[in-house]
Parts: sequence; C-alpha cells; structure tokens
Amino acid sequence: MDNNNPKNFQICSVCGVSITEEGQVNFSTGNPGTRARLYARVCNYVQKPGCINQESELRGEITREDSFESGEDLLMPFLSSLE
Ligand SMILES: [Zn+2]
Repeated sequence: MDNNNPKNFQICSVCGVSITEEGQVNFSTGNPGTRARLYARVCNYVQKPGCINQESELRGEITREDSFESGEDLLMPFLSSLE
C-alpha cells in the first residue's frame, strides 16, 4: 500500500487537516478542499502559531464558495430599494 503515499504533504495539527503537495486539503470530515477553503472555514478563526495555512501566497484568493455554503447565503440584498 505504498503506491498512494504522498511524500510532501503537511499536517496542520492546529486545524487537524493534511495538505498534499498539490494543495488538496483533506479535512477530518467531509470532502477534500483547497487551502483557500480551509482558511475560510478554519484557519481564519484559529489564528494560532503552528497553523501551516496562514500564508496568503499559498492559500490564494478566497471566493464566496469557499465559505460555508449553507446558512450564510440566506442573507438577501436590499430588495426593497428597487424602484
Ligand atoms: Zn491550520
């Protein structure tokens, strides 16, 4: 079972995830994601030394989809201001 053994993946003991050399983040639960998603969902709130995903150059741009998909999207714009 060593044909699927990434050599350069990192483990963030703070957030409890592993990040492969391709930048795929394996969460402890749920589907794999990106560094940006990890940051938006976890590291942004953790802010502890030892977190390996605090470098903006590595995590890239965070899009709206990287944040939680359910719940917060229920906020509506100011529909009442349409004339
Ligand atoms: Zn982290």
